[in-house]
Parts: sequence; structure tokens; C-alpha cells
Amino acid sequence: MTTRLYSHPIYLEHLTPPGHPERPDRLRAIARVLEDDAFADLVRVEAPEGDEATILFAHPESFVDRIRAAIPEEGLVGIDADTTVSPKSWQAALTAIGAANAAVDDVFTGKADNVFVAARPPGHHAEKTTAMGFCLFNNAAIAARYAQRKYGAERVAIVDWDVHHGNGTQDIFWDDPSVLFCSTHQMPLYPGTGAKDETGAGNIVNAPLSPESGSDLFREAFRARVLPALDNFAPDLIIISAGFDAHHRDPLAQINLTEEDFDWATGQLMDRAARHANNRIVSLLEGGYDLQGLSFSVAAHVKRLMKG
Ligand SMILES: [Zn+2]
Repeated sequence: MTTRLYSHPIYLEHLTPPGHPERPDRLRAIARVLEDDAFADLVRVEAPEGDEATILFAHPESFVDRIRAAIPEEGLVGIDADTTVSPKSWQAALTAIGAANAAVDDVFTGKADNVFVAARPPGHHAEKTTAMGFCLFNNAAIAARYAQRKYGAERVAIVDWDVHHGNGTQDIFWDDPSVLFCSTHQMPLYPGTGAKDETGAGNIVNAPLSPESGSDLFREAFRARVLPALDNFAPDLIIISAGFDAHHRDPLAQINLTEEDFDWATGQLMDRAARHANNRIVSLLEGGYDLQGLSFSVAAHVKRLMKG
């Protein structure tokens, strides 16, 4: 497999208050583990700045203007109780979108089989008109629409294994059967959505997990709900909302997965991507707040993406 990695120093300049879990050190920890010789064949690319017009694929202009207007010249400004912007947040968010869209370009033009984007801010909580849960714009949703508009992808699947429900992605594609959204997540937990009976136009598949579920129940949810939905849908592209906060070390949740579970889940999605999507996978970092749990899980995920 040819695997690309996108990152950019600007992602370190999106600042959050002291003690906030979604912090620049997350990306420093990921960069450190990916320096290992095991990743010598990983093709590292500096993320391009995104095209602002592509934000409108998932959000109305009035919302985009509201976020832009909130960016301070200095210090931090709260968008909601746990989502903040700093002077460089606009550029960081735009470059996160740029990387996600460039990753779509790569898998459709054959430059890569799959791509991992190590960016922040994350995106899956951002609804059409609401920035929340550390997220400003919904990177995965924008990339899905970008694939449809630029490459004519008819069916895009977004698989979200972040431990929190991807309410934003669900909101954006609620009545759009051209995008399948599958999510495993802890429930009850922030943001409170993601029940099994939230099915949209039949294109939303939620697999909520009780606290302390662990590996077996996670894999069972994947086998019983996510994988059959993917086979049924036969996507042209799989986008992963790759949060690693279901790891047992993570401070924000209690699902207790290990690196091996992320390796396994990655392999399962690669199998489906081989079957339906000419291997195309675009994986976008979402959550993951324990630096060791996060970085070791990313290493397992990327190693699997490279190996097949
Ligand atoms: Zn999360």
C-alpha cells in the first residue's frame, strides 16, 4: 500500500486553554511515534491551505462568517463551553480542510491507496450551523462532498469510531442517502445523540456501547452493524473519523480498547475498501486525549494502513 501522511506546523497554533484535553501536544506525540523506522515508507506531505469555498459544501455562509468573525487578534475566545478559537485557528481549520480534501485527491488520482491526516482542530461534532465539542468545521463531511463533486463519487461512507458520537456528521447527512454514516461510540456520553433509532434516511447506522464495554463488544458492534452496512452500501470511498479516545488510557471515556482493536478495525475497513472502493481510505484524526494511548493507537492504525 502507498500511504500518505498529512500534517502542518499551523495545527500546533490552534490554542486551547491550559488543561484543555484537545491540545497541541497531541500532534507532537503523534509526530514522535511516526519517526520510528517502521514508518520509513510513509510518504509525508505538508498540508495545503484549504479552499474556503469547500467549507460551504457542509456549512452555510452565515455560519462560516460567524466563526471567522469570532477569531481574536490575541488571546482566546470561547465559542461554547469547551470550544475555543485563537488568532491562528482560522488558518489551522482551513489547513485541516485542505489536508482532508488533498487526501481525497490522492486516493482518486492514484497518488496513494490511503491517507492519514494528523490535523487539528477536529471536526465530527461540528453541525451545519453549530461549532461545538472542540470542532469548528466538519472536515470529514467537507471531504465527502468534495469527493462527490470533484470525482463523481456516488456513495461515500464515513465510519466514526471516536468514542463520542459524531453528531455533526449525522446532522449534515441526515437526509442524504448518498452518504452512509456509521458510528460506534459510548452512550451515555457527550454529546448525547447516537441512539440506534436515529437512522436518518436509512443512511445512519449508530452502534452505541455502554461504558466499560471493552474490545469484544466493540468488535461485535463493528461486525454486526458497521461492516454489513458497508457491504450493503458498497462505497466508492471510505472516510474514517479516526478518534482514539475509546482507548483504555483515555481520560474522557470508559470503552477500554487497546491499540490492537484499532489495528483490527483498520484491517476490517481496508478489507471493505479493497472490495468496494479500489482501496480508497481517507482517515482523519478526531479525538484521543491520553498522549500515550493516542500516539500508540495512531501508530497501530497507520502501520496497518501501510501493510494492508
Ligand atoms: Zn471523542
